[in-house]
Amino acid sequence: MSTVPTLRFHDGREIPQLGFGVWQVEDEVAEKVVGEALKVGYRHIDTAAIYGNEAGVGRALAASDVAREDVFVTTKLWNDSHRHDDAVAALDTSLEKLGLDYVDLYLIHWAKPKQGQYLDAWRTLIELQKTGKVKSIGVSNFPQEQLEEIIEATGVKPVIHQIELHPHFQQADLRAYGRDHGILTEAWSPLGQGKDVLTDPVITEIAEAKGATPAQVVIAWHLAIGNVVIPKSVTPERIVSNFEATSVSLTEDEVRAIGRLDSAEGRIGPDPAECDF
Ligand code: NDP
Repeated sequence: MSTVPTLRFHDGREIPQLGFGVWQVEDEVAEKVVGEALKVGYRHIDTAAIYGNEAGVGRALAASDVAREDVFVTTKLWNDSHRHDDAVAALDTSLEKLGLDYVDLYLIHWAKPKQGQYLDAWRTLIELQKTGKVKSIGVSNFPQEQLEEIIEATGVKPVIHQIELHPHFQQADLRAYGRDHGILTEAWSPLGQGKDVLTDPVITEIAEAKGATPAQVVIAWHLAIGNVVIPKSVTPERIVSNFEATSVSLTEDEVRAIGRLDSAEGRIGPDPAECDF
């Protein structure tokens, strides 16, 4: 079985560097594929209140032989619940759906600067961590300005920042900020949603030369540059082969060649600075 490295947060806890994402996975399907992922060896699941599949994830965890303390579970606070009392209630709802006493990581899903409540949300996460219902706290989709603001205002740094990141959109600035401040970077849509990134000739050439799949090369690249990476798949063979990417190692030249694929126009998802949903 492949061995997944762990990375250490600044709060002392650890996260498996490779996890399993379940965005756009129906509740029933999530139950099935998370069950499969746990059998394959994944020990890190990434869900969110807005995905509508926390209950399915919870059923898979409950049915699995894997002990609770051996699985790292992340969920996220949705944009309509940034106010203090709403955020407190939202975590309880997520825990109830998941059937868990705690999550390992709770993230603010989007800063949504236009709404202007992200600092309230961050203060609430700091409070919630003290209750033990969430072990570590972080953020997702924060422009650097808002990230700096919450740290400045509270003195508490997120342990991780989950952002869109793949070979065609590499987020050099936010990664450098994270590195300088002890904040891990976690890549969402790490395979570029399974589209252009996986057919990029630079990626497919490396894959052919190594006898690996393009997705394995991309996952190996994320691991090599220090990202936490959470590919999603509902396809059994891909769930397995993506996990086995931990056995694929890239040369420095290959890492550099993929580094050159970065593009300012490569963003697939919404711009966090403009988020209005
Ligand atoms: P990914 O980059 O993980 O790509 C998923 C797509 O790639 C699916 O269509 C999947 O198809 C396909 N795929 C997976 N493995 C392979 C493979 N080996 N070969 C070819 N195609 C493959 O996209 P996501 O957007 O799902 O991102 C991953 C996770 O990140 C999410 O599930 C979620 O947990 C998180 N996320 C967080 C966001 C945030 O705002 N914080 C936003 C977006 C995502 P199939 O399933 O049919 O196999």
